Amino acid sequence: MLRVEEVSAAYGAVRALHGVSLTVDAGEVVTLIGANGAGKSTCLKVVTGLLPALQGRVLWDGDDLARVPAHARVGRGLAMSPEGRQVFSRMTVLENLHMGAYSRKAEASDYERAYRLFPRLKEREAQLAGTLSGGEQQMLAIARALMSRPRLLILDEPSLGLAPLVVRQIFDIVRTLQREGLGVLLVEQNARQALAVADRGYVFETGRVVLSGPASELAGNAAVQTAYLGL
Ligand code: ATP
Repeated sequence: MLRVEEVSAAYGAVRALHGVSLTVDAGEVVTLIGANGAGKSTCLKVVTGLLPALQGRVLWDGDDLARVPAHARVGRGLAMSPEGRQVFSRMTVLENLHMGAYSRKAEASDYERAYRLFPRLKEREAQLAGTLSGGEQQMLAIARALMSRPRLLILDEPSLGLAPLVVRQIFDIVRTLQREGLGVLLVEQNARQALAVADRGYVFETGRVVLSGPASELAGNAAVQTAYLGL
């Protein structure tokens, strides 16, 4: 479904990605792990169209996305829940969900799905998003991304700053979404949880993929255990 081929990217003179390649198949959960500044978020920006690739290609269903702007990628089935959540704080929960459906006409079933996945959001439907707890805002950011009915949900650090119980709920949702057939591309500092939920993973170091494979193999890899799992 998604194929990133030899992508390089930079912020001005600072090169952040050096020839990164990865794939995500339909219905697969793939995680990118690595230290701060390794290039994981940058890779997501290139996939979503927020940052152009200097070299290499991003293919979606075999089509090169180079000339497809970020907003149009949403219409093709790619949706992102960004790092730091970035909900519209002065809008209500319901209005945020409505915004998530801007690329298409939302149906009642879309709101029902969001509230089935996150019953807490239904209770808080009329509340301003800025007054939600951190965990609730994360749920809203994911629910908002789902309103475009993506085939690939891109999650950037969904567990950041959340209590362990909420983190577990978020990862349970990832599993539920996968059972419903969604592909998920997950960037996480929390490598242990990420590898527990993912099918496959890629390890980033200074803008390069240095290791990849089935998540269970990466979790059992001695170098990964030392560097990222604290074992
Ligand atoms: P983290 O987990 O800390 O978010 P990351 O693996 O996602 O790390 P990136 O955010 O992709 O890393 O950063 C890769 C490199 O690009 C870093 O050296 C970072 O300082 C740099 N970088 C990221 N965003 C910008 C920006 N907007 N302007 C300039 N440099 C940036």
